[in-house]
Amino acid sequence: MTIDQMGIRKAVMELGLFGDEKTGILRRFGVILSALPSTLYVYREFDLIQQMGGEPSRKLAEKVLIDAAQWCANGTFGGIMASPEWKALIEPQIQNMQDRLQGLIAITNCLGWGLISDYKLDESAKTLQMTVKHSYYIEAYKKRYGKNSEHPVCYMWTGVAAGYLDLLFGQKPNTFVAIETACAARSGDVCVFEAKMSKTKFGFN
Ligand SMILES: [Zn+2]
Repeated sequence: MTIDQMGIRKAVMELGLFGDEKTGILRRFGVILSALPSTLYVYREFDLIQQMGGEPSRKLAEKVLIDAAQWCANGTFGGIMASPEWKALIEPQIQNMQDRLQGLIAITNCLGWGLISDYKLDESAKTLQMTVKHSYYIEAYKKRYGKNSEHPVCYMWTGVAAGYLDLLFGQKPNTFVAIETACAARSGDVCVFEAKMSKTKFGFN
């Protein structure tokens, strides 16, 4: 491992993630960040799923949310990798694709979304398996519905898993597609995501 994850974490903390004194805007990594309760986003997503009713509309709504997250991952992490902060802090440590992913994960784990605790990037197969602990969807789901979900609910993380591969392999958004194969909202303690090359547009089969 050549990437100093703790060093990146310390540096991100020292960036001062607060709104500018004069504008109130928080510009970092070439993007505008905001600090808002995660339930603001998560509950809107749950609302959309619920309003769409049963199958197969639920799957369509899930695709829409995952697709939005994947585009967002492309914009945000693409911006991050083009930023002066990335070039100064992280780029000098990068020797290969595994390092680049580690750098992205080190940043992601500072964002308050939960913790990517494990991952496996297979460069020749072009696949990524990623484990997330404490996904911010889980507490929100259980708090709102008071029970386990019948389906995986971590749409943002699903889009991010595929978005990482779009960026790492230098491809257009939606070249890769991901699914959540285990979700702590259903059972267990962790969420697992698997991303691979998409055979169809937006992953529709
Ligand atoms: Zn999950």
